[in-house]
Amino acid sequence: MLSWIYPTICELCHESAEQSLCPDCLAGLERVPRPICLYCGAILSGTPAGTESCPACARQPRPFELARSALRGNECNMQLIYKLKYHRANYLAAALAPALAELWHHTPELNSDFATAALVPVPTTLAHEQLRGYNQAAELTHALGKLLKRPVIHALQRRDTDYGSQTRLSATQRRQNAYHAFHPLPAYVKGHRTLPERLVLVDDVYTTGSTARACSHALLQLPGVKQVAVITLVRAEMRS
Ligand SMILES: [Zn+2]
Ligand SMILES: [Zn+2]
Repeated sequence: MLSWIYPTICELCHESAEQSLCPDCLAGLERVPRPICLYCGAILSGTPAGTESCPACARQPRPFELARSALRGNECNMQLIYKLKYHRANYLAAALAPALAELWHHTPELNSDFATAALVPVPTTLAHEQLRGYNQAAELTHALGKLLKRPVIHALQRRDTDYGSQTRLSATQRRQNAYHAFHPLPAYVKGHRTLPERLVLVDDVYTTGSTARACSHALLQLPGVKQVAVITLVRAEMRS
């Protein structure tokens, strides 16, 4: 009845559709091209064949096992993320989650080592959530959890200090802020609740990797947690 009164329109082609992205437009979103860094998932364009890691991963090991992103950070994909994040377009999470599920199915490590993992959304600050009414990473995580039939655990919190938008900060400032911003929820620190050995952190965008590193580090402090993988919807293309 509601869909008759308010028919869903595809965000991109504006044709009526079941989700806010029609199957053709979803399939047409540019995926992350190969080759990629086997650790952080960075696009390795212009590097010699057989190169396994990007220069940043070769210099400094990551706390997570691997990070992978579904979509390339082109203008169209970044605009979808922007709408999801800032324009109350949380309905886009359900429309975009199949791209994350596709990434999962095409990533051998996630199907083997992380087959029984729980999904953990990257938290946002309380201020952001109160302002926007939702956390876009959590919306994506719950939509993905439904598709993959995996449990979703909110295990982290983000310190509620307004640093301003991370996008305006330098890579070094982001790293410093991120490392001090994320903490496990007290119930997990005190052992009132426990987590599975393997966790998959879910976020909307991977930019410098500072958030992924900080959240992985926080999760790996908890008893019982052995490995963390990271998946994000979009890979912003900038040097880390
Ligand atoms: Zn469409
Ligand atoms: Zn890398």
